Amino acid sequence: MAVPKSELQRRLGVFADTFRRKGLRATHQRMEIFRELAASDEHPDAETVYQRVVKRVPAVSRDTVYRTLASLEDQGLIRRTAVLGGPARYDANTKRHHHFVCTKCGSVKDFHSEALDDLSIPRSVKAFGRIGSAHVQVRGVCSACIGPRARPR
Ligand SMILES: [Zn+2]
Ligand SMILES: [Zn+2]
Repeated sequence: MAVPKSELQRRLGVFADTFRRKGLRATHQRMEIFRELAASDEHPDAETVYQRVVKRVPAVSRDTVYRTLASLEDQGLIRRTAVLGGPARYDANTKRHHHFVCTKCGSVKDFHSEALDDLSIPRSVKAFGRIGSAHVQVRGVCSACIGPRARPR
């Protein structure tokens, strides 16, 4: 699904501000790689991002895409999330949210829940070390995989 235009503009604005503040060069290629992620909520992996960007920017290399994704993550502009043991998936939604993961097709969907945001982490977890963040990954089979016939009522 496409991200609303206003949200895309906001994300591109944050990208431009961050690069300016950090003195990084917002090259055309970096911009296009970020735009690819910012415009969709599909949580693609690095290879998918490369395949899509190279259609618009034939000069881009796989290496540039991988390195740019790592740097965008360092800048906090995108997030990386692990899904079902597959390759890491990238997410330009940096607001607090949780994921629904389809165990059949691997699609990842965002959802929001104040109740889950307020999830209290057990004391026993704090014994493991310092807690950075927590997010909930709900796994199941998406409606597209279930198919129109067997859709849950
Ligand atoms: Zn699915
Ligand atoms: Zn997400």
